[in-house]
Amino acid sequence: MSVPLLEEQSGFARSVTARAPGKINVSFECGDPREDGFHPVATLYLAVGLDEQVTALYRADGEITAELDDASTIAVDRETFPVGADNLAVKAALALREATGVKAGADLRILKRVPVAGGMGGGSADAAAALVACNALWETHLTRQDLASIAARLGSDVPFALYGGAAVGLGRGEDLAPVPLRSESHWVLIPASYGLSTPKVYGELDRQRARAGLSFPAPKEVSPEVLHALLEGDPHKLAASVHNDLTPASIALAPELAHVIERAEDAGALKAIVSGSGPTLACIARSSAHAERISMQVRDELDVQTIVVSAPAAGASIVPHSGSF
Ligand code: ATP
Repeated sequence: MSVPLLEEQSGFARSVTARAPGKINVSFECGDPREDGFHPVATLYLAVGLDEQVTALYRADGEITAELDDASTIAVDRETFPVGADNLAVKAALALREATGVKAGADLRILKRVPVAGGMGGGSADAAAALVACNALWETHLTRQDLASIAARLGSDVPFALYGGAAVGLGRGEDLAPVPLRSESHWVLIPASYGLSTPKVYGELDRQRARAGLSFPAPKEVSPEVLHALLEGDPHKLAASVHNDLTPASIALAPELAHVIERAEDAGALKAIVSGSGPTLACIARSSAHAERISMQVRDELDVQTIVVSAPAAGASIVPHSGSF
């Protein structure tokens, strides 16, 4: 006769909540696609104070499901939001289970604050948070390094969401070298009301480069200027050195971005950049008060949502007091 699990005996569902940050790419260079189809990149990741949260509720029957938390602060299309094996958080939980041989399952409740398909790695943050939450829920005790090797198989941006802070990413972005920052930077994020598919943006970049007869080798490092500007915490130097190879492709697919960039810079942003593959824009401010002023002006003028954030933010972690209920 099988012994009932503690959860079944007590009738309580154990749960663990973890958070993980969204990111912006302060610098993003990319080469021509490799033989495996991935683009080689050299990027400077920066985790920002905009978190995703994943609550993992124990299931003894081994099922792993996802659902959207009603407290989510961004608009998510429930029709298209993946709740099965397509969801990156579910993929992460399945991969952890496979790596550890655990038999239990979990319902993953995802609280979304990072725009979907916005170029800020929201799905990757969900995967990182799910790894940390399930590792605690199932008591599998993997180290962060163990989790990072599972994360690298899930997606290029997932390892960074685990570690947070700032880091240079090479390879597909998963080969990370941390950049220790002593100062904060302040940003205004301008999400769009639509998403851009990352593969489509890369496809557009390849077409633009082919039309121009240009080819690019795999980048080997991020530019020293942008690295130093971030290390020094000088927003003006940062504004002068940020760079994103994907910008022309994102703007070709969403031409209105050019107008929003112009308006944000008119409102005082030292520079407005496309975050990753876009369409979210990230605007550099001199201080948090300056960011608030830019945010208000852009919101009033363009009638768009704006989010003021500081960086760097910590990597995926358990949210305290979320142990059981
Ligand atoms: P990246 O910058 O990492 O390329 P992104 O930030 O532009 O990604 P995401 O929000 O991570 O985009 O999601 C891109 C697509 O992944 C979505 O359109 C959705 O279909 C799918 N997806 C899978 N899991 C999730 C998740 N947990 N949250 C959001 N989207 C998810």
